[in-house]
Amino acid sequence: MSGFEDTTYYFRQAAQVMELSDRVQLLLINPDKEITVEVAIELDNGQLGIFQGYRIQHNAARGPLKGGLRYHPSVDEDEVKSLAALMTWKAAVVDLPYGGAKGGIACDPAAMSPRELERLTRKFIRQIHTDLGPTHDIPAPDVNTDAQVMAWVMSEYSQLHGFAPAVVTGKPLELHGSQGREAATGLGLVCVIEEVLKDLGRAVAGSTFAIQGFGNVGSHTARLLHERGAKVLAVSDVSGGLFNPAGLDILRLLEHVRGRHLLKDYPGEDRRITNDELLTLSCDVLVPAALGNVFTPELAREVRAAIVVEGANGPTPPEADRIFHDRGILVVPDILANAGGVTVSYFEWVQNLQHFKWELAQVTNQLDRIMRQSYRTIQGLAKSRQVSLRTAAFIVAIGRVGRAVVQLGL
Ligand code: NAD
Repeated sequence: MSGFEDTTYYFRQAAQVMELSDRVQLLLINPDKEITVEVAIELDNGQLGIFQGYRIQHNAARGPLKGGLRYHPSVDEDEVKSLAALMTWKAAVVDLPYGGAKGGIACDPAAMSPRELERLTRKFIRQIHTDLGPTHDIPAPDVNTDAQVMAWVMSEYSQLHGFAPAVVTGKPLELHGSQGREAATGLGLVCVIEEVLKDLGRAVAGSTFAIQGFGNVGSHTARLLHERGAKVLAVSDVSGGLFNPAGLDILRLLEHVRGRHLLKDYPGEDRRITNDELLTLSCDVLVPAALGNVFTPELAREVRAAIVVEGANGPTPPEADRIFHDRGILVVPDILANAGGVTVSYFEWVQNLQHFKWELAQVTNQLDRIMRQSYRTIQGLAKSRQVSLRTAAFIVAIGRVGRAVVQLGL
C-alpha cells in the first residue's frame, strides 16, 4: 500500500467503529489542495538544478494549516499527502486550532551546499507564497530542515508580504522562535512514555530503550530519557547504529553529532549494529524516530521490544501494526506520541501574533500538560471501546474535525 493508503486505512478503521457516514468520510479523507512546483535554481557549479516541490493542504476546518517541510530524495506526492493528512489528525488529537498540511522538496541536502539550500528554499517560497500566511498555512521543520531553513522561509515571505514571523515556526530564537521548540517533539515523547510506563507500573529510570534516528527527534528523546535515568542501549542514524548493553554515553554522542558527524565516525568502543539490528533489539521501549515505513512484516515479527513509541511519522504500515497487535506489542501512534513539536510550534505562533515572549518554563509546563492530558483521553477511550491507542487517537481526532466540517457546511 502507498503511504496515503496506509493513513486512509487507519482512518477507516476508526470511522467504522464510529459508524461515520460515507458522506462525512468522503469530506475528511482527501486533501483540500495539492500544489506541485518545479523549483529551478542555479547550482554552485553553474549548472541548472530542477527539483520537484510540494505543499499539500489537507483540511482547514479547524484553523490555519500547519505542517513541516521535508527535504529528502524520497519525497513524492504520495508521501507528502499522507503526512499532510496525519497533521490534520495530530493537531486535532492535541486539540490545537489548526488543520493539517505538509510540504517537501525531492532533493539530497547532504549533497548540496548551504548556498544551494538557501536558493532552493527561497525559490520554493516565491513559488508558493500566495498559499502560505500566518492565518492560512504555516510551515515548520521536518526531516533535513532546521531553524536556518525556517529563517529563510520567513525572510523570503516577509520580503513579499511585510514582516511576518508568524508565517513559519521552528525559527531561530533571534528571529522570533520559541524557547523549547527544538527539543519539543522529544520532550512530548518523553511525557507520553512516562505515562505509558506508569500505567504498566514502571518508570523511565531503569527501563531500556532503543532509538532509531539521531536527528532532532531522536537525539533530544535520547538526552531527556538519559537525564531521567533510562538506559539507552542503542541509537542509529542513516550511517548505522551503536549498541552498548550497559547503556550508551549519550552526552558524548550528542557532542559528536553536533559537529554534523555521522554515528559511523564515532570513536567510542560501542558495538556497531545495523538499523535492522537496532529495531529488533531486546528492550522495554523502541522509538523509531527516522523515516516512515520502517517496519516490514518480517521485521515486525522480529521486534523484541514490549512497547513501540512512534517518534517518526508513519513508521508502522498496517500489516506491521496487525503483527504488533497479535504479538501483544503496545504501539503508541505518531499522531499522539510526536505531537509535542506541533504543540510548541503553536506556542511560537501565538507568541508571534501577540508580539510577546514566553519563558521556557511556561512552554514546558503547557507542553507537559497537553501531552499528558491527551494521552489520558486517548488511553481512556482505548480502554472503554476496547480498541488500540491508534484507533482511539483517530476516533478523537475524526470526531473533532468531523464536527467542525459538518458545522461549517459545504
Ligand atoms: P532529522 O533530519 O533531524 O533527523 C533524521 C534522523 O534520521 C537523522 O539522524 C538521520 O541520519 C536518520 N535517518 C535518515 N534516514 C535513515 C535511514 N534510512 N535509516 C536510519 N536512520 C535514518 O529529522 P527529525 O526532525 O528528527 O524527524 C524524524 C522523524 O520525526 C520524521 O519522521 C519526522 O516527520 C518526525 N517528526 C519530526 C518532528 C520535528 O519537530 N522535527 C515532529 C514530529 C514528527
